[in-house]
Amino acid sequence: MFSQLQSKFEKIFKTIKGHGKITESNISDAVREIRIALLESDVNFKVVSRFINRVKEKSFGNKVFDSVTPGQQFIKLVLDELIVFLKSEKSKINLNSKKESVLVLSGLQGSGKTTTAVKVAGFLKREFNKKVLLVGLDLQRPAAVEQLEILSNDNNLDCYVEKKSKSPLKVLENAQKYAKNNNFDALILDTAGRLHVDNTLIDELNQIINKSNPCEVIYVADGMTGQDAINSSSTFSQSCNITGCIITKMDSDSGGGVALSIKDVTGLPIKFITYGEKITDIEIFNPDRIARRILGLSDIVGLVEEAAKSFNKESNDDLEEKIKNNSFDFNDFKNQINQMGNFENLSSMMKMLPGIKKIPNLENGKKQLDITKAIIDSMTILERKNPNIINGSRKVRIANGSGTSVQTVNKLLKQFNQMKDFMKKYNNTKTKFKLPFLK
Ligand code: GDP
Repeated sequence: MFSQLQSKFEKIFKTIKGHGKITESNISDAVREIRIALLESDVNFKVVSRFINRVKEKSFGNKVFDSVTPGQQFIKLVLDELIVFLKSEKSKINLNSKKESVLVLSGLQGSGKTTTAVKVAGFLKREFNKKVLLVGLDLQRPAAVEQLEILSNDNNLDCYVEKKSKSPLKVLENAQKYAKNNNFDALILDTAGRLHVDNTLIDELNQIINKSNPCEVIYVADGMTGQDAINSSSTFSQSCNITGCIITKMDSDSGGGVALSIKDVTGLPIKFITYGEKITDIEIFNPDRIARRILGLSDIVGLVEEAAKSFNKESNDDLEEKIKNNSFDFNDFKNQINQMGNFENLSSMMKMLPGIKKIPNLENGKKQLDITKAIIDSMTILERKNPNIINGSRKVRIANGSGTSVQTVNKLLKQFNQMKDFMKKYNNTKTKFKLPFLK
């Protein structure tokens, strides 16, 4: 996400920080570079002009070049202005705390609406403990309802579909009854998309909005289509009461341009962004954090959240118990490695720490994890539970099975024993500190 913009800003900021004293002409150069960087990243040209004018005005007005750390001052100023362009009073998702939350998702075909509906449902369940019902109202695209059903089942989410129905309003009515009878407190309506905005589509959407009384009507904008996404968002929001948008496919190059332009051009706040095919590839849009990421400044909060997604709470509770009664074995060790291995996740996390991508050890770290996993996989169940029985001949078998050497197996056993020793000491101390991988 934002890698194109990040590397451009990194270069611009490096140059400006390199000057001991900053002159007006240094600032003008940096501002010119920023203009080019934004235009090249498909940010709307009117937005670029407004942004550049504000940065220029603020940097000369505040006399950035007189400050003790002019480079840092300039970066802070660009950051603050970027936040202004991304932030909206209504950025926060409104879940209507008084009664059930109804979210309507609208958008063009292929924008990622159905996939996003499922991601939002997973998010509300995970983060807000909501009992969510996905409702399939996209009766236009032949396979949309089936797709929603499959995705919901795959991700342990509930959905309501009527495969033969031709009337989205009738399906909505039945879904509302079903939700009431089964105590659902959030409904996500996946409405019909078309290839282009047309009156029939808008009429149907307005009828659904009137009937469902939603707390959010969200336009799903395809980040991959660049400025076309901005144009279609404008058209939709002129015809329906859209309350916000979700930008999908932020993992594409043009996503950054859409994110930077959409609020300023359409007035629509961004509620979420999605950035991949997995159900967890969604995050609430936080302007401060996104601005930091765009500029290549580290996003520590995002990093911690990404880490939390990778660690499974139940298995960590279980692990804490095992550490307490000293029964931690190689099965648990492998479990921990698997959780760490989720760091595809590791690479998503690293993207939030610009600069770290240059550390070559990251790949080595992943390789090491794979080797460790292969060694544990080559042990028998008994050996994993009781590593003390692993004698010379067993070591040779494990080394052959895992394609490693006896030396590597020895090294892992030694590390495991050191870890157990450490855990014993941890149990014996009365100090209340937590191991880093525990909650
Ligand atoms: P709909 O017609 O609007 O309901 O679109 P779909 O939900 O069927 O999505 C269209 C395609 O976009 C599918 O192949 C999705 O997997 C893909 N997609 C959706 N969101 C994202 C995303 O954030 N990143 C990427 N890379 N692909 C996405």
